[in-house]
Amino acid sequence: MRRIVVVGASLAGLRTAEALRAQGFAGELTLVGDEPHMPYDRPPLSKELRIAPLDVAEDLDARWLIGRRAVGLDIGRRTVALEGGDTAAYDEIGYDGLVIATGTAARQWPGQPLPQGVFTLRGLDDTLALRAELTEGRRLVVVGAGFLGSELAAAARELGLEVTLIEAAEQPLQRAAGSQVGAYVAELHRAAGIALHTGCTVREFRTAPGTDRIGSVTLDDGTSLPADLAVLALGAEPATGWLAGSGLRLGGGVHADAYLRVLRADGVPEPGIVAAGDVVNLPQPLAGGARLALGHWADAVEHAGTAAYSLLNPADPRPHQGIPSFWSDLHGVKFRSVGLPAAADEVRVVELDVASRRVEVTYHFRGRLVGALTARRTGRLAAYRQELAPRVGEFVN
Ligand SMILES: Cc1cc2nc3c(=O)[nH]c(=O)nc-3n(C[C@H](O)[C@H](O)[C@H](O)COP(=O)(O)OP(=O)(O)OC[C@H]3O[C@@H](n4cnc5c(N)ncnc54)[C@H](O)[C@@H]3O)c2cc1C
Repeated sequence: MRRIVVVGASLAGLRTAEALRAQGFAGELTLVGDEPHMPYDRPPLSKELRIAPLDVAEDLDARWLIGRRAVGLDIGRRTVALEGGDTAAYDEIGYDGLVIATGTAARQWPGQPLPQGVFTLRGLDDTLALRAELTEGRRLVVVGAGFLGSELAAAARELGLEVTLIEAAEQPLQRAAGSQVGAYVAELHRAAGIALHTGCTVREFRTAPGTDRIGSVTLDDGTSLPADLAVLALGAEPATGWLAGSGLRLGGGVHADAYLRVLRADGVPEPGIVAAGDVVNLPQPLAGGARLALGHWADAVEHAGTAAYSLLNPADPRPHQGIPSFWSDLHGVKFRSVGLPAAADEVRVVELDVASRRVEVTYHFRGRLVGALTARRTGRLAAYRQELAPRVGEFVN
């Protein structure tokens, strides 16, 4: 293999490129990224509104095509089409091996065109734009109380803003962590002075009179909330638009097998293409083999070694057997999770204590452990991880 192209120059793309070199790839390595930045870490963007560049291995020896968007893939000719740029020669690049690592993008508001002052948060530029607006005393409405919306609400409250958090479900984090943890987080939000509205949705963002800037948010029950700015935290969509018509199997991400080899529409792995990170839709052993794209930092890092290995060793691939894991910091509670809490049909609370900030909750599907969420319970988390470990190798396709 002479030329490998990595599309998506962020966590998964960078770590896969490094793994390719560490596993002996000495050919031409190109990273393509549509953001005008070298790779940086996303978790601090919502927790501390801080920019944290990722370390890049000094001997990576890669060509960086930064600020260039991939717009098409031709698997017959083995080329990636790139948008714009000033060198015509770069408008199409050929590959012998391709890594798809384009992650996800923030889900956009499906309705009306939005007034000025309504933001989404996925990247560094979003955080810079938002940070400039987050000044003490301003009224912020955050729509969506998943992890990202909850973290941002907590961070803005700490900066002294008046924060209102809107959630369609009955509790924050309900889908990701269940209603018991949701009720616990609701208590933390309210104790911090965040106004939480659950079980309601936004009908309209209204401009302030005589301006094109947001002035209020109207809920479906007619309640009008004054707002100086708003953030939409509605979840993420896999960035697979550039793969449309390529012949690869798409739907909730790019489909791959347990070896991270990307599948064609007929379900057969396409030779020379692997995927890593948030964009990958994989069969999940802990969910009985159901396909899910997870969106966890640690999973993106763990994919890197497997994706590189599968690309370099097509005759002898190794399955990805990582245990999904996730963390979040909210109002001083450091949540750590292993497994797939969202796949559970039963939640068991061992401890959920606001005063001590201690959490231990387990998740089960048909009576079997599928995940755990803890805070200040490092030993217990390790024990749950150990219990889940033999199960992640159960489905190898
Ligand atoms: C604000 C925030 C906070 C988070 N906090 C946590 C946390 O606390 N814990 C946790 O486990 N996870 C967290 N995550 C998730 C974690 O950051 C992701 O799992 C991780 O970034 C995945 O890396 P990735 O490289 O797969 O995708 P991304 O980081 O999304 O990178 C994909 C890259 O590809 C680029 N790209 C997309 N389309 C194209 C194209 N057509 N051409 C070229 N480039 C393209 C994108 O612009 C981007 O730079 C958080 C995410 C966000 C946004």
